[in-house]
Amino acid sequence: MLLKKENKWNSYSKEEKKWAYEFSDYYKIFLDKSKTEREFIKNAIVLAEKKGFENIENRSKLDVGDKVYYLNREKNLVLVIIGKEDIEKGVKFIVSHVDSPRLDLKQNPLYEDLELAFFKTNYYGGIKKYQWAAIPLALHGIVILANGEKKEICIGENENDPVFTIPDILPHLSRKIQDDRKSRDVIKGEELRVLVGSIPTNIENIEIKEKVKYAILEKLNYEYGMVEEDFLSAEFELVPAGKAKDIGFDRSMIGGYGQDDRICAYTSMISFLDISKEENLPNKTIVCYLVDKEEIGSTGSTGLESNYLEYFMSDIIYKLKENYNDYMLKKTLWNSEAISADVNVAMDPIYKSVHDESNAAKLGYGIVVTKYTGHGGKYGASDADAEFMYKIRDIFNKNNIVWQTGTLGKVDEGGGGTVAKFLAHFGIKTIDAGPGLLSMHSPFEVSSKLDLFESFKAYKAFYKY
Ligand code: MN
Ligand code: MN
Repeated sequence: MLLKKENKWNSYSKEEKKWAYEFSDYYKIFLDKSKTEREFIKNAIVLAEKKGFENIENRSKLDVGDKVYYLNREKNLVLVIIGKEDIEKGVKFIVSHVDSPRLDLKQNPLYEDLELAFFKTNYYGGIKKYQWAAIPLALHGIVILANGEKKEICIGENENDPVFTIPDILPHLSRKIQDDRKSRDVIKGEELRVLVGSIPTNIENIEIKEKVKYAILEKLNYEYGMVEEDFLSAEFELVPAGKAKDIGFDRSMIGGYGQDDRICAYTSMISFLDISKEENLPNKTIVCYLVDKEEIGSTGSTGLESNYLEYFMSDIIYKLKENYNDYMLKKTLWNSEAISADVNVAMDPIYKSVHDESNAAKLGYGIVVTKYTGHGGKYGASDADAEFMYKIRDIFNKNNIVWQTGTLGKVDEGGGGTVAKFLAHFGIKTIDAGPGLLSMHSPFEVSSKLDLFESFKAYKAFYKY
């Protein structure tokens, strides 16, 4: 029998198509209000609490059927449902990341030149820098003022808000300064400077040299009580302004910022919350883990390379069992399974040559299962074994999930990784699965509504098998 790969839109019934489109509408709304890792986590907690999840801080004991969450520094959320079976037989994780490529403000960002005020930025994650110039940008973040007060700021998302932008050089004059640059340098890191104002202060004071900059600080002080030093204890992110949209005459696709990896974070979270409503408890304890810092290598105390996974797993075991010990934790993790829920690349017909077509994922062909990522000779990959690959294949097939396999481009073409290897490190059987995207890491990433919906169904099937 031949392996068939095909576009699945026409095998969808009218009803399935309707569900997929409705699901997409909710997804777009969630994307629009969750453009930073903090915002995603905050909105996720609201949904989880509505479904009866309790903050673990209020619990000294856990029992079968309990629904709790762990919050790590406002940037990780771990949703847990305690299953019927002994936890040492293993847990089922779905792990996705809620950080996305963007521009962070530098520590001391504000300056003035030619009577225009700018923010200096440091890009976060792998971006094509030129894509971020000459588009509307919104500012999202938090600032901790000198008195310790924490303020949330979001400018550029409401209809009447101003936006910000990085000016690019006009084509008439780019010949010498820009036209011969390599694409990664079309806009250089230090040229990612964001225009934030142009009116000088009207205060008459010869001490004040940078009058436009001063006027911006006056405004920030008036609106938020900020002084310049407060930028030092702030996290501001510039992200593409505006809402996610349907794409195409047939509205079959979604365009929007941050779908890597919020499309997986959203679908794994919604499928998890769906299961929490069901009467039948899962056999195994199930965990939906939303992490940060994947785009810069999973570093830091909120990235998957930290010990947080061991911390919350030991806390769960400790609160379930009488005589907690380290062996219980190690055994639990070694017996566990995980889907590393992250996006893969869907073939772009304009750049076909970077793919091996018979091994590449396509838009509208369903969720993409990726046995290994990495680059070259599988460097940096955790490479799921055939046994676990079989298990996933079997679960997906038995649940009529539309799925396909994919790779990150041709051998030696490039490459990349996910959080899979950090999970596999503990002995957790891990495989990557998530939808394919076009224009990944751009300000306007493209997904298929079918792949989105099938990912939701696939994650649910994994949690439930
Ligand atoms: Mn990703
Ligand atoms: Mn990414």
